[in-house]
Formats: sequence, C-alpha cells, structure tokens
Amino acid sequence: MNISFIILAGGESKRFNSKTPKPYHLYKGKPLLMHSIDRVKSYKKFKKIVIVVHKNHTKFIKKLKIPNIKIIKGGRTRAESAFKGLNSLKNSNTKYVMIHDAARPNFSLKLLNKLKKEIQFNNCVVPAIQTADSVKQKIKGKVKNLKRENIFFMQTPQAFNYNELFKLQKNKSLEVTDDANLFVEAGKKIKIIKGELENKKITINSDIKSNVSIKYGLGFDVHRLVPNKKLYLGGIKIPSKIGTLGHSDGDPVLHAVIDAVLGACGMGDIGKKFSDKSKKFENIRSTILLDKVIDQIRLKGFIINNLDINIITEKPKIQKYNKKIANCISRICKILPSQINIKGKTTEKLGVIGKEKAIACEVIASVIKND
Ligand code: ZN
Repeated sequence: MNISFIILAGGESKRFNSKTPKPYHLYKGKPLLMHSIDRVKSYKKFKKIVIVVHKNHTKFIKKLKIPNIKIIKGGRTRAESAFKGLNSLKNSNTKYVMIHDAARPNFSLKLLNKLKKEIQFNNCVVPAIQTADSVKQKIKGKVKNLKRENIFFMQTPQAFNYNELFKLQKNKSLEVTDDANLFVEAGKKIKIIKGELENKKITINSDIKSNVSIKYGLGFDVHRLVPNKKLYLGGIKIPSKIGTLGHSDGDPVLHAVIDAVLGACGMGDIGKKFSDKSKKFENIRSTILLDKVIDQIRLKGFIINNLDINIITEKPKIQKYNKKIANCISRICKILPSQINIKGKTTEKLGVIGKEKAIACEVIASVIKND
C-alpha cells in the first residue's frame, strides 16, 4: 500500500508567545514536532514522510538533524503549505496520503491504523471527537440550541486518496483550516471516525507547561588511572598514555550519567543493573550500558529533560572534547546536544585527582514522566 505522511509545521506561531516557534518548543522533554515525527517513523508503514516548515524556521529544523525525511518550505497559508507538501509527492506514485498538524503531538498508532484501514474504502477519512457540553449558536444576537450529536470537532491526521485531494487542493487560493474542508466545500463525502481526547491541539504556551512532572537524580563515579589502559570519557576515546581501571571500559562520565538517570527515575543504580561480578559486562563499552538504561526508562514513560555534567580531572582538558561528548551522549539518550551541559574541573593539583591518579565525574539529571 503506497501511503505517505505529510506533517505541517509551517505556521508562524502567532498565538504562541515565545522566541522559539511552536513546533520547536520543548514539550514533555523534546521539541513538539519531534513527537509527531518519532511516532510516524515508529509506524514503519509510510513510504515517504514530508515535513513542511515555515521559510523563516529553517535554522530550527536543521538543528534537529532528522534523517530520511523530506523537508520543504511552506507557503503563506496553511492551504498553500499543504499544496506544496502534496506537490512534492507528485512523482512518487503515492496512492494515499495522511496530513497532520504538528501542533497535535499525542495521536496514537492505533489511530493511524484505523485511518489506514478506512482510507481503502473512502476518499477522505477524518478523526473527530464530540462534546459532552451543550452547544449553542448565536446568530444576529439570537441564541439557538444546537444538537450536540451533530457537532464534531475535527482532528488530524486526516487520510485522503492522493489524487482526489490533489485535484481539490489545486485551488490553493482557498483559505482552509483543515484539508477535509475541501471535500466538504466540494459537496463530497467524508468519513468521520472516532478521534482521541488526548489528541489535543497545543495552541498557547500554557498547554505546553501543564501536566508535566519533573524528577531529579544525582550520579557520581571515580576511576583509578593506570598506565597501558584506554581512556574513555563520555563515550569518546581520548588519546592518553594512562587510562581508567574498571570492570567495563571504566568510563566515569557515562557511569555517573547512568546513575543520575536511574536515580531520577527511581530505578536503582548501575551496580544493581550491571554487576561487576558478571563476566557478561567485562570490558563492555559503557555506551552499550547507557543505551540499555535509556531503553528501560523510556519503556516506563520517562524521558530526559537535561543533564548537567562535571568532569573532574587534571588532564586531559575537557573543553576540547565537550562537543564530541555532548553529541555522543545526546545520540544515546535521544535528546538534543543543547539539553546537555558539560563542565571541566580540576582540583588545583590537590589530592589523587590533582596527582593524576584518578578521574571523577558528577552528574545531575532531570527527567520528565511522559504520561
Ligand atoms: Zn564506574
């Protein structure tokens, strides 16, 4: 089934009072737009995924470094952006397409399944929810009762037969708030399916701040420095004549990160998860250990909000490796490098660290429960 997915993130975010445009604003620990992208990618049924962005927001989208996704610049109106998205799929034999508004980060894979099933029998399928409130309409000062059974609140993603929508969308001068409207205006049939209450639109800043519980954790680790050993710090191999002694690769930075993250999630500590008595973990790279921990915390609905890292060592000077380490940790933790702060500290040549006999690291992590 040749089906593609278009995410519209081309709005100007006028109602959104922030320097960072809405799609790139952090929501539950990651940019709003990334929620839709990650979910759509995890579905694995879409042939092509296209994101339509505002022409002034390219520096924000570049920072997200999203692989295997087509990014195009939008138009002045939503309709024009949707048209550009559809047009970009013109030569790809697309039979069906879903169009989605990036401001709705909370749709489910189940909803995608329902849409995919129904679009095989209909040209336009739209999820919608109904209200329990009574509904009235005011016309020329007179208030009229409306039957709430007949009132539907439209959501996205909406699914379409590509050619049918493309024909209607060519009249792009029309200002439409959602693509199904084109079918309604043209007097064509649309199929309404049950939407999801959680699939709400984020419109103002307060939507983003609500329902977030933040937790904090602290991690600390120290490793002895000895000759003829490799030195790994924050997942990066550092050229050095001396390296750390340890059961694994002895990376004190990743060990402290793991402990801080586990602590924040209330999930124990590194020693419990990866015993230094176990042969399995002998000489293992700590990047693998952190990767396992991230999988485990994500399964429980946690995501990392930020990491603040102090690497305490006389040598090497950490500043030179800051960026590399942040990139490595961000990739494993599935967060942006900008959510990680790394500081290099010395102990002014005092004590075992000052004498280059050990390297220590301390980390504070904050995590968000994604519910
Ligand atoms: Zn350690």
